[in-house]
Amino acid sequence: MSDLASSLTEEQLNILKDAALDFALSHGLVVRPPPTPLSKDDPHHATLSTGVINAPVSLFPTPFPKQAFHDAVRIQPLFSQLVHDISEDDAFLKEIMESLSHVDDFVKRLYDLYLIVKKEGIAQPASLGIHRSDYIIHLNPGQDFSEAAIKQVELNTISVSFGSLSSLTGDLHRYLQATTGYFSNKVDLDALPTSESIESIASGLASAHKHYGSKSAKVMMVVQPGERNAFDQRWIEYNLLNKHGIVLIRKTLAEVADHGRLDPTTKALYIGDQEISVAYYRSAYATTDYPTEKARYALYTPEWDGRLLAERSLAIKCPTVAYQLVGAKKVQQVLAAPGQLERFVKDPQSAALLRASFTGLYPLDHTPEGLAAYEAALINSDELVMKPQREGGGNNIYGKDIQVALRTLSAEQRNAYILMDIIRPPITKNVLLRKGELQRADVVSELGVYGIYLHSGKQVVRNDIGGHLLRTKGVESNEGGVAAGFAVIDSLILV
Ligand code: ADP
Ligand code: MG
Ligand code: MG
Repeated sequence: MSDLASSLTEEQLNILKDAALDFALSHGLVVRPPPTPLSKDDPHHATLSTGVINAPVSLFPTPFPKQAFHDAVRIQPLFSQLVHDISEDDAFLKEIMESLSHVDDFVKRLYDLYLIVKKEGIAQPASLGIHRSDYIIHLNPGQDFSEAAIKQVELNTISVSFGSLSSLTGDLHRYLQATTGYFSNKVDLDALPTSESIESIASGLASAHKHYGSKSAKVMMVVQPGERNAFDQRWIEYNLLNKHGIVLIRKTLAEVADHGRLDPTTKALYIGDQEISVAYYRSAYATTDYPTEKARYALYTPEWDGRLLAERSLAIKCPTVAYQLVGAKKVQQVLAAPGQLERFVKDPQSAALLRASFTGLYPLDHTPEGLAAYEAALINSDELVMKPQREGGGNNIYGKDIQVALRTLSAEQRNAYILMDIIRPPITKNVLLRKGELQRADVVSELGVYGIYLHSGKQVVRNDIGGHLLRTKGVESNEGGVAAGFAVIDSLILV
């Protein structure tokens, strides 16, 4: 395998850096710098920077096994269909979510929302999924790099990000090669697959908007206040307008609560006078997205009110709360148990393809399997990761900390978590560009494949592959979030 990071001189790296920074700033491959809080006690009121910095990126593409990449792409429509089929299995969701609800308030809130809307009668039978299934590659001893297989880390069903910045990072790498030629003989750019994710997410929203059927309605992106990754989102807005002639407005959950209402007859969602065709969440997945939750005695707080209003409405949700629940790590673990995945995926070949991407997943419940996993992890937790039902990075527990956590939690509290085998991918080298600074690093990568899925309530309207994302991080870091500051956006070179 080529080792560009070692073969490039300091001078060449600096030329690449300057070219990369200008490309990033002029093409919107950018993020907002962290805001300056007005006071420590009030972190939600901060001055938003009017300037930008380059999105964290790698300086050149990272080698990735061709077969593994094609496998990940090929199975995406199966995963998107699986999410939908599980979302319709009320009994399956009930069993998992009821047990989690006892030990996880956030899951309980979401599941309550699901129950309220279900009881009331679902106004909008259609649902839009913009998913991303994430993988790390695994190599058996003695195997060649090109023989590595994908292992699924998790399946995200809400607020998947970096679709736009991923495509732009691929463009950046192609530009650097075309203008400097430094990668020649090392990197064959024909093997650099383009990711259409900057287009596909807008295209998914456009399909849902058309399905909704009102020309004057607008798409609503539900955003976090003070979002730093706003430019990844803006490209979706611009593509939706330029390629599909559809306007997208940005609202926070609190704004939905303050300015939203339902038409009493049709349940159409209005924000002010504006009818909303699609409610697309780039928020609403973390406990911090419902901050006034801390008002302990209020039954419903503005953010939960906003979420409930949208959920009850005629607007097509991306995702529905049901899709969001299906994305729980507990669901992933249950599916990995013998025969469970096969309940939903009847075609044996398809089921085998999906199952081949699973790594070891273990419950921490009262079943014999759960107790055995608990006992084993108390003795050796080096090859495990312990996960709660949370999204957005930074929530997992690793190594010896797992033993500490297991000793601290009650048998009931353990139910809120699952255990998973650590996937240890082969290490490669790259140069990371963060806040204008270069850093040579031994790195590992995580591939994400986007899926665009629209169901009318009666039939599948579309189920497409939506491009991909490669995130690369230094080997020393357990977690891989770009927004969380651990990883950079990369592109891949197939080998
Ligand atoms: P989140 O929903 O918060 O993104 P993930 O399951 O993706 O949760 O875990 C966050 C990060 O932790 C991943 O991006 C990856 O870097 C690391 N990670 C999670 N599970 C594994 C695993 N089984 N093996 C290796 N690393 C993992
Ligand atoms: Mg996730
Ligand atoms: Mg993740």
